[in-house]
Amino acid sequence: MKSIETFDFKKKKALIRVDFNVPLNENHEITDDNRIRAAIPTIKQVLSSGGSVILMSHLGRPKTGYEEKFSLKHLVRHLSKLTGAPVKFADDCIGNIPMEMSKALKPGEILLLENLRFHKEETKGSEEFAAGLAALADVYINDAFGTAHRAHASTAIVANYFPEDKMFGYLIEKELENIDKVLEDPKKPYTAIMGGAKVSDKILIIENLLDRVDNLIIGGGMTYTFIKAMGGNIGNSIVEEDKLDIARDLIEKAKSKNVRLVLPTDNIVADKFGNDASVKETGIDQVPEGWLGLDIGKKSVSEFSAIINESKTILWNGPMGVFEMEKFEAGTKGIAMAIADATANGAFSLIGGGDSVAAINKYNLSEKVSFVSTGGGAMLEYMEGRELPGIAAIRS
Ligand code: AMP
Repeated sequence: MKSIETFDFKKKKALIRVDFNVPLNENHEITDDNRIRAAIPTIKQVLSSGGSVILMSHLGRPKTGYEEKFSLKHLVRHLSKLTGAPVKFADDCIGNIPMEMSKALKPGEILLLENLRFHKEETKGSEEFAAGLAALADVYINDAFGTAHRAHASTAIVANYFPEDKMFGYLIEKELENIDKVLEDPKKPYTAIMGGAKVSDKILIIENLLDRVDNLIIGGGMTYTFIKAMGGNIGNSIVEEDKLDIARDLIEKAKSKNVRLVLPTDNIVADKFGNDASVKETGIDQVPEGWLGLDIGKKSVSEFSAIINESKTILWNGPMGVFEMEKFEAGTKGIAMAIADATANGAFSLIGGGDSVAAINKYNLSEKVSFVSTGGGAMLEYMEGRELPGIAAIRS
């Protein structure tokens, strides 16, 4: 496999799939530029090795065709500032416009293509569309991990047109290197902490983790499906009635594989879903009728923290409660801090999935954990042991 670090880009045009799906306000100003910043090392590497860069991305979920609020033209000025290079913009990502602009592109210059998803062929993975994109450049680089689990034209199909000259950018390289650390040879004890609203989203990854981890901690809304499956009272807490059997099955599987499956023992219950609710602490299986559990309790935080503290590898996906509301954030914050402490003591910690990433950022702990994955769904699928089309297309 070719590597971006050693490839000679001199006079070559590199077509880079980036993830510039950034939030814009109503004045079309970027409100969080992290995703653009994350792509800068890859872009700079191509430019400094004598190449030119053609960037392609999606932004938002346009329905059909052009929509002003999803145009990538709003990113041009900021991108030029961050790269220190001139940025040209092609009003379309396919056809004569980008082709002519690509031909005129000189080493050291950047061409940003309009939103790929203004054409439905992108998400359909159209061969013809991918061929059109491929015709613009000499080399293909995929640096968009967040879309690597999609077999879209720009994330997977296009790679077929560069049988020799295709590679990962630094972002994907780093993601894979860190996720592989917990997938392939984790230092023991290995603890996974799974939270978030639903079990259904996480069944496959939990099953996969049961073959690898020593401890599996469950928190957040998905707890109540397990507690109900074991006969506890969960009041009005969130539950997936159709997943009770699966929860029982996972408990049995954990036992047979000698994995310690740890559920919260207490929780913060509220009389309604809101920051102005009345709250109290109860046993996890004693949620009163009409009340709902919205965070793990103090005892659970300290029990979970003790396990985290003894761990050498830690994977965290999903918050322990409704951490967006102050009244229900203590559990998530406590676990985030325990992971940071364990990391300071030498553990390897990987944080992945949208909401745990948001939590780690909220508590300013992103520098205190080993790696924060930007992948979300892609990371979960990779951890489930599935082959991601965007990764396979480069490796094959
Ligand atoms: P997910 O996307 O599945 O990781 O779920 C994240 C969401 O789960 C967050 O927005 C949390 O507010 C929510 N959540 C966590 N714990 C609970 C709970 N006990 N009840 C309801 N929602 C929860």
